[in-house]
Amino acid sequence: MKLSPRFGASLKRISPTRCSHRSSRESNVRANTNELNARATTDGTFAHVPTLTRIARAIALEGCAIIHDVTRKGELGVKDKGGSSTSSGAYVADAQTEADRRVECMALRVFRELAPGVRVVAEESSEDEISPTDYERDLNSKEKMMTLAFARDAFVGENDEMWAPALRKPIASDRVTVYFDPLDGTNEYASGEREAITILCGIAVDGVPVAGVVGQPFYNYRAEASAGARLERVVWGGLGAGVFGLDVAANASRPALPPNGPHVVAVNRNTRENRQEPVLEALRSRVDVRISATGYHYLLLLERRAHSALMLRKASKKWDTCAGEALLRATGGVVTDTVGRRYNYAYNVNALPNLSGMTASLDAALHCEMTTIIRDVIAPLGEYPYDVDDPSIKVGILDQTRTPEGGWRAVTVDVGGCLIEPSERVADVYARVAADLGANHVTPVSASKDFKDAFAKYRGRDEPGAMRYYGDGKTFWRKVVRHVLAGGAETSGFVSDATVEAMLSALYDYYESPSSWYVAQGALEAFDRLRKAGIKVALASNWDSRLPKLLDALGVTPHVDAIVVSAIQGCEKPSREFFAAVSRDVGVAPSATLHVGDDAVNDVAGASAASFAAAVLWAPLPLDVSLRASDFHELADALIVANLRERRARGVAMGDENERVFF
Ligand SMILES: [Mg+2]
Repeated sequence: MKLSPRFGASLKRISPTRCSHRSSRESNVRANTNELNARATTDGTFAHVPTLTRIARAIALEGCAIIHDVTRKGELGVKDKGGSSTSSGAYVADAQTEADRRVECMALRVFRELAPGVRVVAEESSEDEISPTDYERDLNSKEKMMTLAFARDAFVGENDEMWAPALRKPIASDRVTVYFDPLDGTNEYASGEREAITILCGIAVDGVPVAGVVGQPFYNYRAEASAGARLERVVWGGLGAGVFGLDVAANASRPALPPNGPHVVAVNRNTRENRQEPVLEALRSRVDVRISATGYHYLLLLERRAHSALMLRKASKKWDTCAGEALLRATGGVVTDTVGRRYNYAYNVNALPNLSGMTASLDAALHCEMTTIIRDVIAPLGEYPYDVDDPSIKVGILDQTRTPEGGWRAVTVDVGGCLIEPSERVADVYARVAADLGANHVTPVSASKDFKDAFAKYRGRDEPGAMRYYGDGKTFWRKVVRHVLAGGAETSGFVSDATVEAMLSALYDYYESPSSWYVAQGALEAFDRLRKAGIKVALASNWDSRLPKLLDALGVTPHVDAIVVSAIQGCEKPSREFFAAVSRDVGVAPSATLHVGDDAVNDVAGASAASFAAAVLWAPLPLDVSLRASDFHELADALIVANLRERRARGVAMGDENERVFF
């Protein structure tokens, strides 16, 4: 995707990505929703991640221009700020600091104006290098006001459909933290590696990096003389969206994954770290890059020029890693501490350094195996990282769970609200379909409430103990549709049967289309990893009989061992009978099975009552307890690593063919 020119009156709207099959009416609804979401970002109470990302992209472009400007006026600087104390607090007007300060002042002002409720943790202000009065003063100039206008308007015509559904709606601002580094890698710039400089902006929701923007001001500087080439690039993306702006040449080298080639890594230039060599040896790594710039390392991984980046000791902070972690997650990669634990990016100014190191890889499976090996190598060489009390280490999903004897042998997964969720808000779909039938009184607000009420209230038959779905589920859905059309009224005589049937039919068509559903990021790859590691995967869902066909259309079926659906099985969650059927179909005892789902009663209580070994709630918050998950790769890591340790505890040595895939 090409980025729009800065400040251009001819600023091009980027056309919506995937809506050619939509009616114009639907596009209008979407455009209005986008506009509402954008406005929500500015009211201080809610944040909207796609809008924040657009703002960050505009900031990155302007930041590149500022850095170019400072560079034109003289050398950017040679001062090694990383190794020196910043305790004096006095502003030193050397060129390097000038660029850092100007970019950060601009960014803080833009965020404060356009996303006032969102907390921004930025490097220079966090280290007392600049104060709010600095950015007040600097932003009075005409140029900076143009920056604000640009940031507000840039990319606004973009459709938000590409993002994970959870990010398309406004999110309470206090769940969001933005990490900003105005200039990463300045020391490398001094040694002639201009490409190493990046502007980093990561957006975390509930402590998880979900969107990232990396501006690289001198991306193309070796080719600067060639006609038409832009000097900078802005790489951006996030959960569900993937990554844009990489602009990788078609003939770029892409090392094969080990063992078909060496493990290619990037490390810092100066590492006072005696464990690095043994680790690199154990991983049979080839060091292609020795540059001290975290943002640049992430770009290398995103471009597939290296498999992993290793910093075994504390050498990065949250603003160095948040943006890159979001981008890597969006493309199947992962970032953890030295031994595979995830960091928590929730707002906490006392937990900014990544105390127990940082490792990143372009592939989650490779990373899990790599960090397991690192753990084995460094354990005899000293306690680190276990001897540091790192408040930002996220509690692991299975940290407080005993691994079954013989290890985990199956995981059963809820479908609705866990593996898949509607691409578009249900209330918006109902309101649109109703309006198309002339029922204009149904609004997204009324549909939201009435749908929820009806969903909880009705069953598929009017008898005690009736299930929700029988057969194709129409006996239940007809009641829901009638309830929504009647505006929630108990007596709904004025809603004609013909209208109910027409709406039911339109909704059935809509929800049978795979484009109406979003499959959780990384889920299918994680299922493959689990199955390769000897852990079976089954889907366990309260759904009508159409589910298997939908899962086929979504490409899910080949990635699982069994699919159990309530309407087909004749019993539903949370009954013991249903979970017994699941265990039977997957062929694994409940005592060696973990269930994950988004419903506390149907999934967690149901599986627990059926003697499953553990039940994990699929939910983003809170991060400081175990048995919660919102990322399938993280869940797969927890199960696979638990099994490796269980085998070790039984005296089975690492090195088994099944355990080592990459190394
Ligand atoms: Mg569910």
